[in-house]
Amino acid sequence: MDKAGFYWHVRHNIVLEWCSDAEERVAAIKATKPVNEVPTRLRLMKPVLAKLPDELATAGEVLGVAQVAYDNATQAGSRKELAATQEVYNDAFERWLGALYAYAPELKALHAQECGCTEWRWPGLVFPGMVEQGSGGITKKDKS
Ligand SMILES: [Zn+2]
Repeated sequence: MDKAGFYWHVRHNIVLEWCSDAEERVAAIKATKPVNEVPTRLRLMKPVLAKLPDELATAGEVLGVAQVAYDNATQAGSRKELAATQEVYNDAFERWLGALYAYAPELKALHAQECGCTEWRWPGLVFPGMVEQGSGGITKKDKS
């Protein structure tokens, strides 16, 4: 697996995104996610093969850089640096979401072509033990 690039299903609630370190993300999934989610997450996190539209690709890469800067500031513990990087991250995230919505029809088609999983139900993955709740909501299955 390449270390950096666009991947499908890096997280459960975004269909694809830039991942600056895929090996690190895989390790984090194994270490922190619920046991019933790990196999699905690992199976579905895979590189995007197509060249994304420039606007989308640029927004995704900018968000990836902003995420790394924010994570570094968090680890450094500098409030000033954290505030600055948070603002840049928020702006980059808004731009990324805007691009995702702008290209939603193309992304749905590309997802069907490249990934084709049945677990992705906009706007999130359905894991074993979860049920869909009507208008896009997904929750843990009620045991009662
Ligand atoms: Zn998928």
